[in-house]
Amino acid sequence: MAAKTVLRYQTESVLRELVTTVVSWQALSKLEENERALFKTVLDSTEGAVVTKETIFHPQGGGQPSDVGTITTDPDSQFKFDVKLVRKLPNGLVLHAGNRLPPLPEIEPVFSEAQPVVLKVDDDTRNYHSRLHTAGHLIGLAVRGLESTIGAVTELKANHAPGTACVEFGGSIASEHKDAIQAAVDEMVASNLNVLVKWWDTEQVKRDCMSVPDVVPADEGELWRVVEVEGKGSYPCGGTHLPTTSDVGQVIVKKISRAKGKSKISYDIVR
Ligand SMILES: [Zn+2]
Repeated sequence: MAAKTVLRYQTESVLRELVTTVVSWQALSKLEENERALFKTVLDSTEGAVVTKETIFHPQGGGQPSDVGTITTDPDSQFKFDVKLVRKLPNGLVLHAGNRLPPLPEIEPVFSEAQPVVLKVDDDTRNYHSRLHTAGHLIGLAVRGLESTIGAVTELKANHAPGTACVEFGGSIASEHKDAIQAAVDEMVASNLNVLVKWWDTEQVKRDCMSVPDVVPADEGELWRVVEVEGKGSYPCGGTHLPTTSDVGQVIVKKISRAKGKSKISYDIVR
């Protein structure tokens, strides 16, 4: 099996451009069925996917949408490869799916093994996704900070996609708490708190994080990537964040809906 793609965005989140090499190129139709399903939204509109040795693209996951951008062959680029969707396979390879602009149907394969390439992440999309994603953590921390009035809750899942962003909790959060949650989020944004990425062992994650997912790393020795909003709390997280809470900008707590012992807080950010 090929070595896992090195996820440079996890340690160097400011990188928007990276020179690396191609590991493989493949048509999406050649993937196993369960892997192909990850690309169902782009199957008909893309030529295939390229795996590179390292990537700065955030793959869709953890409720955060995929980065978009371009991959070019340097320095005499005949084309730009338009990256539409990035997904990480269970084996640790990251596939960048897209197609060439302009289209060059007569030339196959699109990329060849060991070819040098330049990855470029679209900055506006990344920043927007990072703001939405980081705002989700602020909602979680605001709710947890208000548990003495709201009642005990647990984080269940989150979606940080534009237009449908929400955080879901186990437990009942009455609509009357909406203003208090909004005020707590506003206060965190105004306080310009550091948002830090740390690497912790399982013991520390279980002890110090606000919530821990059921799935623990297969290798117990592996470190978890953790995001900490300084002084407020931490979560294990693989997503992209901003350096401080004030970078998130204005967050709007839209609505609290409740069903079957769960509560969903939908939110948005001002673009
Ligand atoms: Zn996060």
